Amino acid sequence: MKITAAVALAPESPFELISCDLSDELAPGQVLVRIEACGICHTDLAVKLQHMPVPLPKVLGHEGAGVIERVGPDVAGLAEGDHVLMSFGSCGACGQCQLGAPGYCDEFGMINLFGQRRGGSGLRYRGAELGGSFFAQSAFASHAIATARNVVKIDKELPLELLAPLGCGIQTGAGAVLNVLAPRAGASIAVFGVGAVGMAGVMGARLAGCGTIIAVDVRTERLTRALDLGATHTIDGRTPELARAVAALGKGRGVDHSLDTTGVPEAVAASIACLRQRGSSAQVAAPPRGTRFPVEASILVGGGLTVRGVVEGDAVPSLFLPRLIDFFRQGQLPLDRIVSFYPFEAINRAIEDMETGATIKPVLRMN
Ligand SMILES: [Zn+2]
Ligand SMILES: [Zn+2]
Repeated sequence: MKITAAVALAPESPFELISCDLSDELAPGQVLVRIEACGICHTDLAVKLQHMPVPLPKVLGHEGAGVIERVGPDVAGLAEGDHVLMSFGSCGACGQCQLGAPGYCDEFGMINLFGQRRGGSGLRYRGAELGGSFFAQSAFASHAIATARNVVKIDKELPLELLAPLGCGIQTGAGAVLNVLAPRAGASIAVFGVGAVGMAGVMGARLAGCGTIIAVDVRTERLTRALDLGATHTIDGRTPELARAVAALGKGRGVDHSLDTTGVPEAVAASIACLRQRGSSAQVAAPPRGTRFPVEASILVGGGLTVRGVVEGDAVPSLFLPRLIDFFRQGQLPLDRIVSFYPFEAINRAIEDMETGATIKPVLRMN
């Protein structure tokens, strides 16, 4: 079938909307989804900029939301017309998947970044195969082939376009706090970088009942927005002796938890150095390959600290997304305050606004 897709051609060139072919064949376990909306996440940009060695040209997009148009063989519990959110793919068979940790699937890179799946990407352009199946979807497109494992069915009255970012960015920030750091009520937490993932971390901290929630960023308007979403304090990320300034808000002894979403080595160092004794930190950013984080050994060891790398909020999407949707229904996950909508054709403007900070979470509408 003919579909419209935004293709990433080269690091410096803008996304280009093209008409290309998507295979009509669905392999066992696959579903065809008509995309209503797709969030833009930093991993899309990291791949386009080739901070990750994933071959271009490729159709990206991994926060797709839409309606199932067709169901392949061996798919249970999904039918034509179902509304679905898409998340990351996983094999379902390896040890990590069986242990309920699909974010650490043995095949994670092959399935999500390199887009390896049965029947290839399914995309063709000008007679050649086009890279796709990004996060088992490639949702910067009018249609995508996903798998039953990476779609989550949701009620039809829910707003697909507002919920699209649950599949990656929101799951990542909220999951790092709720699933990994798991703060006790009244605990203190510092969130470094309040873009979409950090804002989800702030919302997660509020949901967990944290008493002190410190947002750190270099953009004043983002800090103001973080206060709206539950932060109790804000600190400019350029503050000299940043770690000390953050620690001072944790009753002078440091904070119980931190979340770094920036991947900037100095911020990461501060996110660890601001912890109190036996505090824990979650690191979720994907900075360019080769990036190293400076950690003072005496702080790490002497403090008995825990520093955890976290992929996709340690979430099992089919379990965690419905939890987030419950919070959304209760008004405790006010996504409307961080999402801005753009028409599909405006994808390059949406990315520009994301980079300048004018928009926190851009979501493309496909029709
Ligand atoms: Zn697996
Ligand atoms: Zn993402």
